[in-house]
Amino acid sequence: MSAGTTTAPTYRTLTVPQLDQLLSALCKEGYLTIGPTVGDAAIVYDEIRSTKDLPRGYTDEQEAGSYRLRENAQGYFAYITPVQSAKQYLHPPRQHLWEAVKDSEGFHILPDPPANTRYAFVGLRPCELRAIEIQDRVFLTEPFVAQHYKALRQAAFLIVAQCTRAGATCFCQSMGTGPAARGGFDLALTEFPEEATFLLEIGTPRGQAIVDAIGCAEAPEEMVEQARARQSQAALQMGRRLDTEELPKQLGSSYSSGRWEQIARRCLSCGNCTMVCPTCFCTNVEDTASLTGDHAGRWQRWDSCFTSELSYIHGGVVRKSTASRYRQWLLHKLCTWHEQFGESGCVGCGRCITWCPVGIDITEEAQALRQAH
Ligand code: SF4
Ligand code: SF4
Repeated sequence: MSAGTTTAPTYRTLTVPQLDQLLSALCKEGYLTIGPTVGDAAIVYDEIRSTKDLPRGYTDEQEAGSYRLRENAQGYFAYITPVQSAKQYLHPPRQHLWEAVKDSEGFHILPDPPANTRYAFVGLRPCELRAIEIQDRVFLTEPFVAQHYKALRQAAFLIVAQCTRAGATCFCQSMGTGPAARGGFDLALTEFPEEATFLLEIGTPRGQAIVDAIGCAEAPEEMVEQARARQSQAALQMGRRLDTEELPKQLGSSYSSGRWEQIARRCLSCGNCTMVCPTCFCTNVEDTASLTGDHAGRWQRWDSCFTSELSYIHGGVVRKSTASRYRQWLLHKLCTWHEQFGESGCVGCGRCITWCPVGIDITEEAQALRQAH
């Protein structure tokens, strides 16, 4: 639901100085430009103002339960995936819902300040773009529209960095979400690091308008073909795959499998997997009140199927065991999400595998549950 209507991509070449011009143009138009940076010994999204802020020369090595930043790469977008995703911004961990103040006539609810930040995301991976589209279904389907998300999402400008290499925990190819995005972006970059240049795909009229102002040359057909070849190469490098054939049906009958208890012996119920997942959307609410009793507020904050509070209803907690919580998470992602939203809740980014402290692997568990079918 980009504010710009998607068009068939057209192609330009973009140099590094022109990428700087693009970032400046976005800033001048009032966007808060968010892109990959080096922080906390990892690639993390943060505000960027120029290509100097990008993680030039850095890459990452990811495996189950393991992440290492390396400084031995060529290019600005040589990493696999940042730690967090656009979810951090469009569906923030803590969101103000309302505030009330008391005067001589009682409490008055104050109008919620509008969500007026205009984010420009620079360097989204194709799987992250698909994750945004999945969250659109969650937050924007009538009649339950999340107004804050809607405002941020409609204003967001999306620049994809197509993948030309894949990591050991990636499996977007088997989920049909990468390694290349074919639409849904304003602009998409494929990096040619050895030439310090990019193939630029224009996906929307507003993407076109900003590129026209920079004046990029048309890309030769040969460059487009080379970009496609590099993206295909990334597809071959995927460290993992998930066989999705009949998967929802087969997982649907795994409810009583002994595998859930086996996983629970390892799972810490820490919730890391849900925090880093770009599609997980569960929240809880927290109420605050001042000590003077004249001010109150309500906040929405991320929650996780791994907390006992999430399944608390009158009379107690429904999912008391770790096995039942992991089962809820995996079956929702790969099985009941299809019934609810018409597609999988997993885009194959691999974050839950990398950031699980004990290296539990959703692809391995899904396969084991399928075999136990
Ligand atoms: S379930 Fe894991 S691999 Fe799938 S989208 Fe979420 S974090 Fe990525
Ligand atoms: S699967 Fe891993 S990341 Fe998720 S709750 Fe269990 S231990 Fe934590």
